[in-house]
Amino acid sequence: MNIDPEAPQWQRIVIKVGSALIAPNRNGCSSQYLLSIANFIVRCRMIGTQVVLVSSGSVAAGAHLFNAEDNSSMTVKKAMAAAGQSEMMATWDRLFDFNTAQVLLTHADLKERDRYISVRDTIDTLLNNNILPIINENDTVTTDKLKVGDNDNLSAMVASAANADALIICSDIDGLYNANPKLDSTAQLIADVYDINADIYQMAGGATSDVGTGGMKTKIQAADKAVSHGIDTYIVNGFNEVSFNELLIGRNPGTHFHPHKKPMQDQHHWMKHTTKIQGELVVGDTFMMKDEATRDLLVPQDLLHVTGNFSAGDVVLVRKDNGDKLAKVKTNYSSCLLNFVATQNSEHISEQLDNTDEPILSKQYITLLGA
Ligand code: GLU
Repeated sequence: MNIDPEAPQWQRIVIKVGSALIAPNRNGCSSQYLLSIANFIVRCRMIGTQVVLVSSGSVAAGAHLFNAEDNSSMTVKKAMAAAGQSEMMATWDRLFDFNTAQVLLTHADLKERDRYISVRDTIDTLLNNNILPIINENDTVTTDKLKVGDNDNLSAMVASAANADALIICSDIDGLYNANPKLDSTAQLIADVYDINADIYQMAGGATSDVGTGGMKTKIQAADKAVSHGIDTYIVNGFNEVSFNELLIGRNPGTHFHPHKKPMQDQHHWMKHTTKIQGELVVGDTFMMKDEATRDLLVPQDLLHVTGNFSAGDVVLVRKDNGDKLAKVKTNYSSCLLNFVATQNSEHISEQLDNTDEPILSKQYITLLGA
C-alpha cells in the first residue's frame, strides 16, 4: 500500500452506512455491498484506528416480513425496525471475527447532557476493549419529539460524542456535485469544501433516497455539525470498493469537508448541534443593552413574550422581536410560568415564584448564536 505521507493519522473514525447498502431491495439484508466496508473496518483496526459504525437498515431489512399494504404506517415501520434490527446486526456480525455491540439511541438520550456523556463513556469502553459499536436510532420507541430522524445527522452527533477525528458518510454517488449527476451529465464533483454556506446547501437540493430517510441535504447538515467539532468529514460512494482503498492510503475519493481550524468547545457544540429548541423567549431592548457578561441575567422585564410549550430544563431560543437569534439556552422554568412572569411587572423572579430565586437561564448552558 502506498500511503500518502500527508495522510491524517486518525485515532478514531465513525463510518455511516445507509439502508440502500444493507438492504438494497428491501428484501432482507444482503452482504453484497457490505464486504468492502467490512474489509475497510478490519484494515482500519489493523493500523490502530478505532472504528464506530453507524448503520441504518432496520426498517428496510424488516420490511419484507410485513404485509406490503400497510407498510407506510408509523406503527408498522416501528415493528419493521424491531424485526429488521436483529437481522441487520446478525449480517454485520457474520462479517467480522471480533465482537460487535448494538447501541440503540434516540434523541432523548443525546439531548440530556448526562446521558450524552454516558453514551460517550460507553463508546469509549467498547472501543478500548476492541469491540465494534454498531449504532442505530431506536426507531421502535421514537416519537416525533424524541427522534433525530435520519442517521446522517445521528452519525455526526455520535462522531462528536465519541470525539472522533473523522466521519465517513457513505452515499450512492461519489460525493457532493454542483448539480444532480443523475439528471445532469455536466454535473461536477466538488472535491473539497472549506465553508459549508448557503451555496453548498443549495447544491445538496432536497432530501431524496429510495430506501432510507436521508439524502444529500442531511449529509451536508451532518458535515456541518461534524466540521465545527473539528472532525474531517467525507462523503464517499459506499457502493464502490475503490472509495475505501483510497481512504486507506490517505486519498480523498469523494468530497472532503475540512474541519474548522478553531472547533467549538464541546459543550457549546452539543448545545448548538445536538439539543433541540422547544420554545422561544422573545426579549426586548432592556436585554439587548446588557453586555455579554450579564446577558445570562435575563429578568422578567426583558421578556416580551414566550412561545411554545416547554418544561423546566428544556432548551429554548432567545431571540429579538425582529427574529434575530441570540442564544440557545437551558431554561430553569416552564413556558407556563414564564408566560405568567412576562406579563407581571416585578424585578425579581422570586417575587413571582414561591420558593426560589433561581435565575431564568441556566448559566452553565448558554450558547450565543450571533445575530
Ligand atoms: N434508523 C433507520 C433504519 O434503521 C434509518 C434512518 C436513515 O435512513 O437515515 O431503518
